Amino acid sequence: MADAVNDPYAMRDPRTQYPQPEFSRQPQPAPGLAAEMSPKPDHGETGYRGNGRLKGRKALVTGGDSGIGRAAAIAFAREGASVVINYLPSEQKDADEVVALLTGEGHTVVAIPGDLADEAFCKELVQRSVKELGGLDILANVAGRQQFSPSIDELDSASFEATFRTNVFALFWLTKAAVPHMPPGAAIVNTASIQAYQPSDILLDYASTKAAIVAFTKALAKQLAEKGIRVNAVAPGPVWTPLQPSGGQPQEKVVEFGKSVPLGRPGQPVECAPLYVLLASQEASFITGETYGVTGGNMLP
Ligand code: NAD
Ligand code: MG
Repeated sequence: MADAVNDPYAMRDPRTQYPQPEFSRQPQPAPGLAAEMSPKPDHGETGYRGNGRLKGRKALVTGGDSGIGRAAAIAFAREGASVVINYLPSEQKDADEVVALLTGEGHTVVAIPGDLADEAFCKELVQRSVKELGGLDILANVAGRQQFSPSIDELDSASFEATFRTNVFALFWLTKAAVPHMPPGAAIVNTASIQAYQPSDILLDYASTKAAIVAFTKALAKQLAEKGIRVNAVAPGPVWTPLQPSGGQPQEKVVEFGKSVPLGRPGQPVECAPLYVLLASQEASFITGETYGVTGGNMLP
């Protein structure tokens, strides 16, 4: 049973529900580990309670080792889904925590590491997920690359391309491979960002990929309606994950991360999970092509 501090269902002031800035400087090499963060992000490990919303579903969650993807994976499993998580090999330590937690609770979770910037691996990941789970009902595209760069002069082509391959091309490759396996009622949930609408100067490439993801989500939703497959996106504001201290932001911004949003703090990954569950579940049967913000009040247009 969750204790009072970590019970996301107990009514209280959202401003003080989770840690507020200032935070310590804590640089890590990309892609970063949740295990190295201080304070530790809350992915719903002790708090998220399932309610059978995804009973029997088969879900692939990219970026499922840490941050928002880990929170989605935990929530999906506790809602009754079998889950494959994907992540980079260097994130094995974080992935092991997710697998230990969920298998310890009796859920099916399969860890498949690999690089989504590689088209062949994207195809292989979908094929292996279908094989391991016996099908595919939910594709949650949560993986993402974010490396800040102060000016276009310093943003080189290799970095620009890596961001687009990870955030946009992989979305195309994974979706293309997954759709033929998805039955009517299946759902795709993508991960955009407030950056699609309010781009930071230092995130030129990243913000552009997130705007692309919003358009991709809308066009794909129109295309897949005739198959009975829904497609939506979640667009988070600042969320306390390893993406940020591992080069997503300069350290001076990590220190005050979330301070400027109306609720005055960063979101925690667990606060994004209910949107992934809703959009993946049959409760969202009339919702497709939408982008949902979870921003602490720094709202989408
Ligand atoms: P995170 O670092 O915990 O998750 C990102 C994950 O992406 C990593 O765990 C890693 O497994 C995966 N990844 C990166 N490059 C990869 C590659 N080449 N191949 C395979 N996997 C790769 O951070 P997060 O903040 O939870 O990020 C999840 C999503 O949320 C991303 O799409 C990010 O853009 C988006 N987002 C985050 C924030 C925020 O403030 N944290 C805000 C808006 C959107
Ligand atoms: Mg990670």
